[in-house]
Amino acid sequence: MKNQFSTGNEIREAAFYTMDDFPFVQKFDAHMHINTHSEVLINFAKANNLGLLSINVDVPDFPSLEQQQEFTTGHFKNNPEHFSFIASFRIQDMEDPGWLEKTISRLDDAFERGAVGVKVWKNIGMEYKDKNRDFVMIDDPRLDPVFDFIAKKNKTLLGHLGEPKNCWLPVEEMTVANDKEYFSHHPEYHMYLHPEYPSYQKQIEARDHMLEKHPDMRFVGAHLASLEWSVDEIAERLDRFPNLAVDMAERISHLQHQAVNGYEKVRDFFIRYQDRILYATDITVDDSISPETVRANAYSTWINHWRFFISDEMMEAPEVPGKFRALHLPKEVIDKVYTTNIKKWYRIM
Ligand SMILES: [Zn+2]
Repeated sequence: MKNQFSTGNEIREAAFYTMDDFPFVQKFDAHMHINTHSEVLINFAKANNLGLLSINVDVPDFPSLEQQQEFTTGHFKNNPEHFSFIASFRIQDMEDPGWLEKTISRLDDAFERGAVGVKVWKNIGMEYKDKNRDFVMIDDPRLDPVFDFIAKKNKTLLGHLGEPKNCWLPVEEMTVANDKEYFSHHPEYHMYLHPEYPSYQKQIEARDHMLEKHPDMRFVGAHLASLEWSVDEIAERLDRFPNLAVDMAERISHLQHQAVNGYEKVRDFFIRYQDRILYATDITVDDSISPETVRANAYSTWINHWRFFISDEMMEAPEVPGKFRALHLPKEVIDKVYTTNIKKWYRIM
């Protein structure tokens, strides 16, 4: 992806951050999960100048959506400067009478409590079937009034739709170790084993079709919009959908993997789309994890990412086979990816 915007001299000559700058630069994590009343992570993030955006999501092994909403609204009340949250809704009862009214009134209530957006998850497209035994995809017309409501309220839809392309490959052909591990442990989500489920292409097409139908709604594609394997594919969608941004939650290893043989291409992608990419980790905390471990894990995640984005070192990561050069992004790009874009795309003041 060669383009006229990339790496001009004025950007090359701009100042860069250092490793020592990490705790002093204002930052946000645009996608994490806080499934606890404990403020350990919030306080530690605060001490490192990092705000958190916690995502409520209808995942089977998470606490109930009501419980998640209680955690997140409480944290938002106590830490409005450093903490925001995103609400979600259930689709399992979408064919029951009154589902739409109930869903809209719950989302309205969540917005009143401070939610900056709404999350939809891969159970749409990969799990839930309607009474005709058809998978309900994200472009299902029954979901349109919910999205219209989100747009009308000037909120943002965050979508984890589909999975990494690796999910449709045998484990030994997957590119990064974190996917090999996740899908070995979650055969129920490993689509290579379930050819009767909608294909990767079908998931992406349904999402793109939903975006065509809702050009006025801000949409953040979680996990690099499930196009993590190719910055060209992400770029193509960002060009096509002006109201689309992407978060990097749990997919930075895929960018590192592409940087092994395509450093310039990955770096150009960040320069060109510097207003459309959101820093995010997918860190998840609950009461089963000790405070020391919460802090240690968070810090090593944040600092390794920081090294990848700001330095020009040769790096290795446990998920990625091969060495890659860190992206050495200019300060102005770092500030956008870590703060400005997150505030802008979620209207966080
Ligand atoms: Zn997540």
